[in-house]
Amino acid sequence: MENKTSIMISSVCMPLGAGVMFFSLLSEFSILFLITGGLIMLLPLALFKNTLKGSASYDKKTYNWYREKYPDSVQGDIVTCSRCETNTLDIRPLKNEIFKREIYCTECGKTLYYFNI
Ligand SMILES: [Zn+2]
Repeated sequence: MENKTSIMISSVCMPLGAGVMFFSLLSEFSILFLITGGLIMLLPLALFKNTLKGSASYDKKTYNWYREKYPDSVQGDIVTCSRCETNTLDIRPLKNEIFKREIYCTECGKTLYYFNI
């Protein structure tokens, strides 16, 4: 879903950015249009990169992954932070993923794992 959106945005932004940059050549190398065109072209690249990087991390770092990687930090139902070993954990929503939440340590701020809602 997110990947399709990124591709759609890319396919709109790339020609649009190129068009604006080309327009800057016509209007005596207007630096404003040149920069704007460059930014429009780079925007989808930034979005696309974050989506790929983000989804890989979210899919990998699940509760089961955490339990296998840090067996000492998961004792039955009690999960503790693998860095500072406290159990003051909290849940927060992710900026770009509506249906994902992350479990993090309120002491040191480390993200332990992610889950779907
Ligand atoms: Zn911690």
